[in-house]
Amino acid sequence: MFVSLRRTANENKETTVRLLIMGPPGAGKGTQAARIASRLGIPTISTGEIFRSNITRGTALGREVKRIIDAGDYVPDAITEAIVAERLAEPDCAHGFLLDGFPRTLHQADALDRMLGVTGLDAVLSLVIDLEPLVARMLLRAKIENRPDDNEATIRHRMDVYTQATEPLLSHYRDAGVLVEVDGNGSIDEVSERLLAALDTAKV
Ligand code: AMP
Repeated sequence: MFVSLRRTANENKETTVRLLIMGPPGAGKGTQAARIASRLGIPTISTGEIFRSNITRGTALGREVKRIIDAGDYVPDAITEAIVAERLAEPDCAHGFLLDGFPRTLHQADALDRMLGVTGLDAVLSLVIDLEPLVARMLLRAKIENRPDDNEATIRHRMDVYTQATEPLLSHYRDAGVLVEVDGNGSIDEVSERLLAALDTAKV
């Protein structure tokens, strides 16, 4: 389905665009997701943000997931899938959405396929980025910010979890014919431009 990127937000409400952005931890997915979603006039659904907001508010869910997230592990599929199913049912998702950080496992990808039915996702944007400089940058930031989920062991663990559990999703979406790979190296503006150009080229 073609949705011109030149349209302004909230126009063309009859069209639907369902997107997913993927990339390793620290690749700038969240920043790019916010930019693309605002350009297309669709909501971003970030499971990481939903979890962080629950942790900040001290909800039962927040208390359940805090230790898992601080350790750099994945929240169990059943919890994560239920949250996304509930969020996708909200009215603002009726005309499309951009998923950021979900799915992260093949189990979650299958669950999403079932939630979306035959129409599925229009495109999966994959930020392709060199891992070594990325890890070096995250380690530097960890030193400066001293975040509990950002010490060296946790960063390396998050990368390993990503490689083992999430990278296989790229083949899943390549096989489905919806994978759009974009060079994720460079400045925030450069990467945004590439992502928007790739969506235009893919006629999403
Ligand atoms: P993010 O902001 O996307 O990097 O997510 C922060 C953390 O939340 C991750 O490191 C995971 O611990 C957890 N998380 C977010 N999304 C998922 C998901 N789809 N499945 C499991 N855990 C998740």
